[in-house]
Amino acid sequence: MAQKLSAREILEHLVAFPTVSRESNLAIVDWIEEYLAGFGVKAHRVYNEDGTKANLYANIGPEVEGGVILSGHTDVVPVDGQDWDTDPFTLVEKDGRLYGRGTCDMKGFDALALAAVPLALERGLKRPLQIALSYDEEVGCLGAPSMIEEMAERLPRAAAAIIGEPSMMQVVTGHKGAQSVRTHLRGFEVHSSQIHRGVSAVMEAAKLIDWANRVNAENAAATPGPVAAMFDPPHTTFHVGTVQGGTANNITARDCRFTLTFRVVPGEDADAWRQRYLDKVREVEAGMRAVEPSTFIETESSFGVPGLAPEEDGVAEALARRLTGDNGEHVVSYGTEAGQFQRAGYSAVICGPGNIDQAHQANEYLEVSQLEAGWAFMERLVESLAK
Ligand SMILES: [Zn+2]
Repeated sequence: MAQKLSAREILEHLVAFPTVSRESNLAIVDWIEEYLAGFGVKAHRVYNEDGTKANLYANIGPEVEGGVILSGHTDVVPVDGQDWDTDPFTLVEKDGRLYGRGTCDMKGFDALALAAVPLALERGLKRPLQIALSYDEEVGCLGAPSMIEEMAERLPRAAAAIIGEPSMMQVVTGHKGAQSVRTHLRGFEVHSSQIHRGVSAVMEAAKLIDWANRVNAENAAATPGPVAAMFDPPHTTFHVGTVQGGTANNITARDCRFTLTFRVVPGEDADAWRQRYLDKVREVEAGMRAVEPSTFIETESSFGVPGLAPEEDGVAEALARRLTGDNGEHVVSYGTEAGQFQRAGYSAVICGPGNIDQAHQANEYLEVSQLEAGWAFMERLVESLAK
């Protein structure tokens, strides 16, 4: 190929791959791999278990330490049930906006990173650009960890990771972490007039859900530390979004299921929060078993995304501030792969084109001016790596 494409032209190609998380992303990975090969850049794949999806990473420039990782994801959220004015998988420009699924979240950044490759090669880098594109970000940041692990092992250590989630090219230094615990209570069915002999899974679940209410209130009443104070709300929160249980108004429920999700202020120990919940589970279970020994509560942790903690004198933050001129304090409420890079020992920030308000929506778009701002960022980044 070896054909130089603008970020806009690359975006057109990327949007045309309907890489909804439930589908394979191998077609887009093939395209990107071939694009990079056209410039003599060897990309590496890290597959999922059944080989239907892959992460892709590459080192551009000298194999030395001190480079910069540009991190994006290849998957997008579904368009099912959304009312689009244009074909979501065709890039359409209208009124200074580029419409299409993933333009904002986050193929726009992916396209900028790929467009920067020939620029970097022409300029000649002293420290490398490293590109890291994941799968399954939108379903709980599932893909990236195996790639991050392999990059840490096989590539010279990068000094900074820029995660290009939509931030309007502002430098975002923190986000909360998230964890989910699925909970299933098995009660004991009797006629509800004999409630003292039965165990209602629904009523026992209510105790656990109310525990979450009380912890929320406790956390809200506490004085936030300096990191927590940056967030809205300035504390760790627990939430139950759905509950299923019971079969009739006059039967103590045999089963009840719900998922508890907690968003943890970075720096707090997410595992300790989960343990507090599990301690409460054991307490409630003991009460159920005192009535009927066959009852139980089982739990399963379904996903966990580590928080991104603002770094003291962070290399990534300093670099992104220098390149954007943004000196504001920004944290966000959504989870990203930035926390995973940071957990692996990389200095990390979020900085990418587009507004998170447009992500996941019908008629998702990226302002042309944001793509241009992103390109100016890439030009300055290449320049800084060439010195
Ligand atoms: Zn995203």
